[in-house]
Amino acid sequence: MFANAFRDLPLDERLTWCRRGTAHFARALSDLTDDDLLLPSGLAGWSRRHLVAHVAYNAAALCRVMDWARTGVETPMYSSPSARNEEIEAGSSLNPAALRNLYDHTVARLDERWRNATGAVWAAPVRTAQGRDVAAAETVWMRTREVWVHAVDLGAGARFGDIPPVVLDGLLGDVVSKWRGAGDGGEYVLHIAGRDPLPVDPSRSHGAPVVVEGDLAAVTRWAAGRGAVGLVSPAPGTPPRWL
Ligand code: ZN
Repeated sequence: MFANAFRDLPLDERLTWCRRGTAHFARALSDLTDDDLLLPSGLAGWSRRHLVAHVAYNAAALCRVMDWARTGVETPMYSSPSARNEEIEAGSSLNPAALRNLYDHTVARLDERWRNATGAVWAAPVRTAQGRDVAAAETVWMRTREVWVHAVDLGAGARFGDIPPVVLDGLLGDVVSKWRGAGDGGEYVLHIAGRDPLPVDPSRSHGAPVVVEGDLAAVTRWAAGRGAVGLVSPAPGTPPRWL
Protein backbone atom coordinates (compact mmCIF):
# COMPACT_ATOMS: atom_id res chain seq x y z
CA MET A 1 0.00 0.00 0.00
CA PHE A 2 2.90 2.34 0.69
CA ALA A 3 4.65 1.49 -2.53
CA ASN A 4 5.39 4.63 -4.51
CA ALA A 5 2.87 4.33 -7.35
CA PHE A 6 4.33 7.42 -9.01
CA ARG A 7 7.29 5.31 -10.13
CA ASP A 8 4.95 2.94 -11.96
CA LEU A 9 3.53 5.66 -14.21
CA PRO A 10 4.79 5.86 -17.79
CA LEU A 11 7.79 8.20 -18.09
CA ASP A 12 5.80 10.74 -20.13
CA GLU A 13 3.26 11.10 -17.35
CA ARG A 14 5.94 11.41 -14.69
CA LEU A 15 7.59 14.17 -16.73
CA THR A 16 4.24 15.92 -17.09
CA TRP A 17 3.64 15.95 -13.31
CA CYS A 18 7.15 17.26 -12.83
CA ARG A 19 6.72 20.04 -15.39
CA ARG A 20 3.41 21.05 -13.80
CA GLY A 21 5.15 21.18 -10.42
CA THR A 22 7.94 23.28 -11.91
CA ALA A 23 5.39 25.71 -13.36
CA HIS A 24 3.61 25.77 -10.00
CA PHE A 25 6.86 26.62 -8.18
CA ALA A 26 7.73 29.27 -10.79
CA ARG A 27 4.31 30.88 -10.34
CA ALA A 28 4.73 30.98 -6.57
CA LEU A 29 8.19 32.52 -7.03
CA SER A 30 6.91 35.14 -9.46
CA ASP A 31 4.22 36.12 -6.92
CA LEU A 32 6.96 37.17 -4.51
CA THR A 33 8.58 40.59 -4.73
CA ASP A 34 12.33 40.95 -4.37
CA ASP A 35 11.75 42.20 -0.81
CA ASP A 36 9.56 39.17 -0.05
CA LEU A 37 12.55 36.97 -0.88
CA LEU A 38 14.39 38.31 2.17
CA LEU A 39 11.75 36.94 4.55
CA PRO A 40 11.92 33.48 6.14
CA SER A 41 10.75 30.44 4.18
CA GLY A 42 8.77 27.65 5.82
CA LEU A 43 12.04 25.80 6.51
CA ALA A 44 13.83 26.55 9.76
CA GLY A 45 16.92 28.72 9.29
CA TRP A 46 16.33 29.37 5.60
CA SER A 47 15.14 32.60 4.02
CA ARG A 48 13.18 32.33 0.80
CA ARG A 49 16.42 33.20 -0.98
CA HIS A 50 18.06 30.13 0.55
CA LEU A 51 15.13 28.01 -0.55
CA VAL A 52 15.18 29.31 -4.14
CA ALA A 53 18.95 28.78 -4.29
CA HIS A 54 18.47 25.23 -3.00
CA VAL A 55 15.77 24.41 -5.57
CA ALA A 56 17.95 25.86 -8.35
CA TYR A 57 21.07 23.98 -7.24
CA ASN A 58 19.03 20.81 -6.88
CA ALA A 59 18.26 21.04 -10.61
CA ALA A 60 21.97 21.54 -11.32
CA ALA A 61 22.77 18.51 -9.13
CA LEU A 62 20.26 16.40 -11.06
CA CYS A 63 21.92 17.55 -14.30
CA ARG A 64 25.15 16.06 -12.94
CA VAL A 65 23.31 12.81 -12.29
CA MET A 66 21.93 12.77 -15.85
CA ASP A 67 25.45 13.46 -17.18
CA TRP A 68 26.71 10.56 -15.07
CA ALA A 69 24.01 8.35 -16.61
CA ARG A 70 24.94 9.44 -20.14
CA THR A 71 28.74 9.22 -19.86
CA GLY A 72 29.24 6.59 -17.15
CA VAL A 73 31.65 8.99 -15.47
CA GLU A 74 30.66 9.35 -11.83
CA THR A 75 29.53 12.93 -11.11
CA PRO A 76 27.62 12.95 -7.80
CA MET A 77 24.85 15.40 -6.99
CA TYR A 78 27.06 17.18 -4.46
CA SER A 79 30.75 16.67 -3.70
CA SER A 80 29.91 16.73 0.05
CA PRO A 81 27.11 17.87 2.38
CA SER A 82 29.18 20.89 3.37
CA ALA A 83 29.77 21.83 -0.28
CA ARG A 84 26.01 21.65 -0.79
CA ASN A 85 25.36 23.94 2.16
CA GLU A 86 28.07 26.42 1.15
CA GLU A 87 26.61 26.59 -2.34
CA ILE A 88 23.14 27.36 -0.95
CA GLU A 89 24.59 29.99 1.39
CA ALA A 90 26.44 31.66 -1.50
CA GLY A 91 23.37 31.43 -3.74
CA SER A 92 21.23 33.09 -1.09
CA SER A 93 23.41 36.19 -1.23
CA LEU A 94 22.92 36.69 -4.98
CA ASN A 95 20.84 39.69 -5.90
CA PRO A 96 17.20 38.80 -6.60
CA ALA A 97 17.47 39.15 -10.38
CA ALA A 98 20.51 36.87 -10.47
CA LEU A 99 18.80 34.38 -8.20
CA ARG A 100 15.68 34.28 -10.38
CA ASN A 101 17.95 33.84 -13.39
CA LEU A 102 19.81 31.01 -11.73
CA TYR A 103 16.52 29.27 -11.09
CA ASP A 104 15.29 29.66 -14.69
CA HIS A 105 18.63 28.61 -16.12
CA THR A 106 19.07 25.45 -14.03
CA VAL A 107 15.47 24.37 -14.70
CA ALA A 108 16.03 24.77 -18.45
CA ARG A 109 19.29 22.82 -18.28
CA LEU A 110 17.66 19.90 -16.49
CA ASP A 111 14.80 19.87 -18.96
CA GLU A 112 17.31 19.77 -21.79
CA ARG A 113 19.06 16.74 -20.21
CA TRP A 114 15.73 14.97 -19.91
CA ARG A 115 14.58 15.78 -23.45
CA ASN A 116 17.78 14.33 -24.87
CA ALA A 117 17.93 11.21 -22.69
CA THR A 118 17.73 7.87 -24.54
CA GLY A 119 16.23 4.71 -23.04
CA ALA A 120 19.72 3.55 -22.07
CA VAL A 121 20.41 6.83 -20.28
CA TRP A 122 17.14 6.68 -18.29
CA ALA A 123 17.97 3.13 -17.21
CA ALA A 124 21.63 3.79 -16.33
CA PRO A 125 22.66 3.22 -12.69
CA VAL A 126 23.45 6.31 -10.59
CA ARG A 127 23.38 7.27 -6.91
CA THR A 128 21.40 9.89 -5.02
CA ALA A 129 22.80 12.35 -2.46
CA GLN A 130 21.41 10.04 0.24
CA GLY A 131 23.41 7.15 -1.19
CA ARG A 132 20.56 5.23 -2.82
CA ASP A 133 21.45 3.27 -5.96
CA VAL A 134 18.78 4.09 -8.55
CA ALA A 135 18.23 4.32 -12.29
CA ALA A 136 18.58 7.82 -13.78
CA ALA A 137 14.79 7.94 -14.31
CA GLU A 138 14.47 8.35 -10.54
CA THR A 139 15.60 11.96 -11.05
CA VAL A 140 12.10 12.72 -12.36
CA TRP A 141 10.49 11.66 -9.09
CA MET A 142 13.19 13.36 -7.01
CA ARG A 143 12.57 16.63 -8.82
CA THR A 144 8.78 16.27 -8.78
CA ARG A 145 8.76 15.86 -5.00
CA GLU A 146 11.14 18.77 -4.65
CA VAL A 147 9.21 21.37 -6.65
CA TRP A 148 5.73 20.57 -5.33
CA VAL A 149 6.77 20.52 -1.67
CA HIS A 150 9.13 23.48 -1.79
CA ALA A 151 6.43 25.54 -3.54
CA VAL A 152 4.55 25.23 -0.24
CA ASP A 153 7.70 26.06 1.75
CA LEU A 154 8.07 29.26 -0.27
CA GLY A 155 5.11 30.64 1.69
CA ALA A 156 3.54 32.40 -1.29
CA GLY A 157 0.15 30.71 -0.97
CA ALA A 158 0.83 27.25 -2.47
CA ARG A 159 -0.68 24.49 -0.33
CA PHE A 160 -0.42 20.73 0.11
CA GLY A 161 -3.99 20.62 -1.23
CA ASP A 162 -2.61 21.82 -4.60
CA ILE A 163 -0.34 18.78 -4.91
CA PRO A 164 -1.76 16.06 -7.20
CA PRO A 165 -2.84 12.91 -5.27
CA VAL A 166 -0.37 10.71 -7.16
CA VAL A 167 2.47 12.96 -5.98
CA LEU A 168 1.13 13.05 -2.40
CA ASP A 169 0.90 9.25 -2.42
CA GLY A 170 4.48 8.96 -3.66
CA LEU A 171 5.69 11.40 -1.02
CA LEU A 172 3.86 9.65 1.81
CA GLY A 173 5.19 6.31 0.54
CA ASP A 174 8.76 7.67 0.67
CA VAL A 175 8.28 9.09 4.16
CA VAL A 176 6.80 5.90 5.59
CA SER A 177 9.38 3.63 4.00
CA LYS A 178 12.09 5.86 5.45
CA TRP A 179 10.52 5.57 8.91
CA ARG A 180 10.17 1.84 8.53
CA GLY A 181 13.78 1.47 7.46
CA ALA A 182 14.90 3.46 10.51
CA GLY A 183 12.48 1.74 12.90
CA ASP A 184 10.75 5.08 13.56
CA GLY A 185 7.12 6.08 13.91
CA GLY A 186 5.85 2.58 14.70
CA GLU A 187 3.22 4.04 17.03
CA TYR A 188 1.40 5.83 14.22
CA VAL A 189 -1.61 4.57 12.32
CA LEU A 190 -2.59 6.77 9.40
CA HIS A 191 -6.31 7.11 8.80
CA ILE A 192 -6.69 8.70 5.40
CA ALA A 193 -10.25 9.59 4.40
CA GLY A 194 -11.76 6.88 2.20
CA ARG A 195 -8.97 4.33 2.80
CA ASP A 196 -8.20 1.47 5.15
CA PRO A 197 -6.13 2.48 8.21
CA LEU A 198 -2.41 2.20 7.49
CA PRO A 199 -0.21 1.22 10.44
CA VAL A 200 3.39 2.40 10.04
CA ASP A 201 4.46 -0.79 11.80
CA PRO A 202 1.91 -3.54 11.01
CA SER A 203 3.69 -6.01 13.32
CA ARG A 204 3.38 -3.82 16.40
CA SER A 205 1.28 -5.40 19.13
CA HIS A 206 2.10 -3.33 22.22
CA GLY A 207 1.13 0.18 23.32
CA ALA A 208 -1.75 2.37 22.25
CA PRO A 209 -1.48 3.46 18.62
CA VAL A 210 -1.42 7.16 17.81
CA VAL A 211 -4.05 7.83 15.16
CA VAL A 212 -3.33 10.49 12.55
CA GLU A 213 -6.55 11.19 10.71
CA GLY A 214 -7.36 13.52 7.85
CA ASP A 215 -7.44 13.75 4.09
CA LEU A 216 -4.43 12.67 2.03
CA ALA A 217 -3.04 16.22 1.81
CA ALA A 218 -3.29 16.86 5.57
CA VAL A 219 -1.79 13.52 6.61
CA THR A 220 1.03 13.85 4.08
CA ARG A 221 1.71 17.41 5.17
CA TRP A 222 2.05 16.30 8.79
CA ALA A 223 4.17 13.24 7.89
CA ALA A 224 6.51 15.37 5.79
CA GLY A 225 7.16 17.59 8.81
CA ARG A 226 5.16 20.59 7.55
CA GLY A 227 2.77 20.85 10.52
CA ALA A 228 -0.47 19.38 11.82
CA VAL A 229 -2.95 21.44 9.82
CA GLY A 230 -6.36 20.18 8.73
CA LEU A 231 -6.10 16.89 10.64
CA VAL A 232 -9.25 15.48 12.19
CA SER A 233 -7.35 13.76 15.04
CA PRO A 234 -5.88 15.71 17.97
CA ALA A 235 -2.34 17.01 17.38
CA PRO A 236 -0.24 13.84 16.94
CA GLY A 237 3.08 15.42 17.92
CA THR A 238 6.17 15.89 15.80
CA PRO A 239 6.69 13.11 13.25
CA PRO A 240 10.09 11.40 12.93
CA ARG A 241 12.45 13.01 10.44
CA TRP A 242 12.54 11.47 7.00
CA LEU A 243 15.21 13.47 5.14
ZN1 ZN B 1 14.89 20.10 -1.11
